[in-house]
Amino acid sequence: MSVKDNLKHIKSQLPDHVTLVAVSKTKPVSELMEAYDAGQRIFGENKIQEMAEKHEQMPKDIQWHMIGHVQRNKVKYMAEFVSLIHGVDSFKLLKEINKQAEKYDRVINCLLQIKIAEEDSKFGMSKNDAASLLQSDEFAALKHIKIVGVMGMATFTDDMMQIIKEFNNLKSAFDSLKSWQTENCHLETVSMGMSGDYQWAIESGSTMVRIGSSIFGPRNYH
Ligand SMILES: *Cc1c(COP(=O)(O)O)cnc(C)c1O
Repeated sequence: MSVKDNLKHIKSQLPDHVTLVAVSKTKPVSELMEAYDAGQRIFGENKIQEMAEKHEQMPKDIQWHMIGHVQRNKVKYMAEFVSLIHGVDSFKLLKEINKQAEKYDRVINCLLQIKIAEEDSKFGMSKNDAASLLQSDEFAALKHIKIVGVMGMATFTDDMMQIIKEFNNLKSAFDSLKSWQTENCHLETVSMGMSGDYQWAIESGSTMVRIGSSIFGPRNYH
């Protein structure tokens, strides 16, 4: 199947309130352009440098999402154009994003990454840490970022019940944090679900799925 057919198939399965991020990491611009020509405008990358290069080469109406772990010293390479940063897991990182966004007179939308997986390897903050971050005065002072939701990654496992339990935990974290609405915090997005598990994620309340291999085919490396 072509990229175009894959996209069409996935889109036909997504309810209207669910946004599709086409995860294009490791794929060449020519393949991203196939998705673009089929109407896709939101692309997700997990390496800042690769995303910046693709941004340079591709049409400027694309919204670029950083879905990977973010190193603070690289935020400056995406601050001018990035549309949503999914993996914000510390106040220090948020402060750096705010600082770089200010240079371009922008407000950068971010998601707080919540640790839902039982595996140790996954990044993210606890629900309690996220709550105290949002309620702090230091956070209120950041004028160039906006927290618009949460993001999570389930454990890499075949155990469907485990994955669903973790998705439900993210949704309930979202629901409890949602009461906290301020000028720079307005939670609307729950980013969860990938190629192998997006249907379950949607049933658990996902509003944004990040799908790579089901659109572009398997990747050669991670
Ligand atoms: C690579 C990646 C995805 C997409 O994974 P697929 O299984 O190819 O759909 C989603 N989210 C994150 C954070 C990723 O790094």
